[in-house]
Amino acid sequence: MIRVGINGYGTIGKRVADAVRRQPDMEAVGVAKTRPNFEAQTAVEKGFDLYAAVEERKPLFGEAGIDLAGDVEELVAASDVVVDACPSGVGEQNAEMYRAHDTPALLQGGEDAGAVDASFNARANYDEVEGTDLVRVVSCNTTGLSRLVAPLEEEYGIEKVRATLVRRGGDPAQSGRGPINDILPNPVTLPSHHGPDVNTIFPDLAIDTLGLKVPATLMHTHSVNVTLESEPDADEVRELLESESRTFLIPEWLDIDGAGKLKEFAQDRGRPRADIWENCIWGESVSMEGRDLYLFQAIHQESDVVPENVDAIRAVLGEAGREESTTRTDEAMGISEGMVPGTAPRASADD
Ligand code: NAD
Repeated sequence: MIRVGINGYGTIGKRVADAVRRQPDMEAVGVAKTRPNFEAQTAVEKGFDLYAAVEERKPLFGEAGIDLAGDVEELVAASDVVVDACPSGVGEQNAEMYRAHDTPALLQGGEDAGAVDASFNARANYDEVEGTDLVRVVSCNTTGLSRLVAPLEEEYGIEKVRATLVRRGGDPAQSGRGPINDILPNPVTLPSHHGPDVNTIFPDLAIDTLGLKVPATLMHTHSVNVTLESEPDADEVRELLESESRTFLIPEWLDIDGAGKLKEFAQDRGRPRADIWENCIWGESVSMEGRDLYLFQAIHQESDVVPENVDAIRAVLGEAGREESTTRTDEAMGISEGMVPGTAPRASADD
């Protein structure tokens, strides 16, 4: 069993902890928190051992009636690998602790690419991180773009990617973020950081990205144009993307017009926290104009990196090859069941 510690139990950390626990070859040693709050309570109720991330705040846990299993250094020492899901910049500060314990660590997309040995996306560069000490699982947007680029590049070759990222202002729980009534080119200058970030996974890819921020919390939406090196028809591209386990081609008959219905559907499907781990690509948006492919995809920022973190654990430790790991992850999390079981629409929408 691979012993996994999770340092930082917020939006990403709590999802990774649950996903790790579902893996047949992994065990969650515990989670580290800075203070008692609703998420600490969730961790306790789920039976995760809780470790204190900040020495001076330890008494606060006792006052809240929460037992600690130890401090974060003990968690790191007891783990074969640590998933660091602390806020941007904190992961880099924690790197020294991981190195001191000789424990490989996975940082998240908010960290600088220069602070790690390698950046990671399971579909694109799984084999490149084995034996490294510090790996960055790229951000939600970069994950979404990488999952799209990898099969297109392999199957057709890519001349150039142009993507406009309409980004949610904040996650649902981030009450302090915005905008609340505006549409912001963000950044106003080109390129947004996403293109260069995709280049940490595909160094030779020609890609330009533009970013906007809008008053939404549910998901990001990408408007993508890829100039291919060959000229498949739209159906072929649809079939290719459908054959990928982490891209969900939304069938037209589902009548899903945006992130709101997508999240509602995920909830109806019984997905935990209404998470959508796959890229959601509108099937009818997939269009070819000569060698130019166009499509829209929605990315659930809070969850698409979760299966990637699980695969990165095996990749860093050399515990399984890409196919074996992604299949195992998908089966354990329920991704392999897909968002649509079967392909035929139901005869009646009464139930
Ligand atoms: P978050 O704020 O929801 O969670 C971070 C948690 O870490 C919080 O519970 C915080 O209290 C805790 N923390 C702070 N300092 C700590 C420390 N020193 N030790 C241990 N815990 C500490 O943040 P998040 O959204 O989960 O983001 C975490 C990382 O994941 C960031 O790098 C972010 O860029 C990246 N990421 C976030 C999203 C997203 O949409 N939320 C998507 C992909 C990647």
